[in-house]
Amino acid sequence: MTAERKTLQAHVPGEYQPTAVMPDVRVVKIGGQSILDRGRAAVFPILDEIVEARRQGIQVVLLAGGGTRARHIYSIASELEMPTGVIATLGKYIPMQNARMLQMLLAKHGGLYILPDDFEKLPLYLQMGCIPVMSGMPPFGYWEKREEGSRIPPHRTDAGVFLSAEFLGSRRAIFIKDEDGLYTDDPKKDPTATHIPRITAQELTARGLPDVVVERVVVEYLPRAQWCKELQVINGLKPGQVLAALKGEDVGTIISA
Ligand code: ADP
Ligand code: MG
Repeated sequence: MTAERKTLQAHVPGEYQPTAVMPDVRVVKIGGQSILDRGRAAVFPILDEIVEARRQGIQVVLLAGGGTRARHIYSIASELEMPTGVIATLGKYIPMQNARMLQMLLAKHGGLYILPDDFEKLPLYLQMGCIPVMSGMPPFGYWEKREEGSRIPPHRTDAGVFLSAEFLGSRRAIFIKDEDGLYTDDPKKDPTATHIPRITAQELTARGLPDVVVERVVVEYLPRAQWCKELQVINGLKPGQVLAALKGEDVGTIISA
């Protein structure tokens, strides 16, 4: 019997232990609307902290969100009755533009634009001290599933970041946004909303909050994760938060499986 055949036979239910491909990598999203759309005042200090983390030997893969320009095409395309798969396909261009700009800004510090298929080259890039940058949009495109009651693709850049962390075997997906993390409601709409430093996905779902800080599909997937058991949402507008999170500190909100 060949070794290959034996390996296949060993896959009995309950014993499947997939490899954590690159467990030391920090998978980090820079928010589209919450950060990138605010321009240099928000973006530059965050990039400084990412460069500092990289200088300290922390391996970072950066993923870009879309923001207002992405929401614009979602709104036009859905008004024009485009199927979800078309909207998801159109939605990939804006985060890609954002990732390209981030790469240029980080170029002198090893910023490197990568595509999902380049995951195979990450070990080399990271060993060389590079900061790989990619779009946060998962590549479902025309194959994106429709969600009941919505034309907008349910898997957008938060989902792409979570799914990347899960594939890479990273324990935490880090989301840099413009609030201190999760609140009982959107703090921009409800000033009485209070901060939630730590919560499980199950508790969060049970609370039925009017709005949440990450795409709901990510909270739904979290309990099923093999590796990425935590989402960390931090405030990139507060100096020091990004570096603290990259060092593994529990700043912001931790949503756990
Ligand atoms: P991104 O820029 O990563 O796409 P979003 O703008 O989609 O981020 O999501 C972050 C925003 O979510 C925050 O700026 C905040 O106004 C809003 N939000 C909605 N509900 C909540 C909540 N329960 N707690 C915190 N923020 C919330
Ligand atoms: Mg968003």
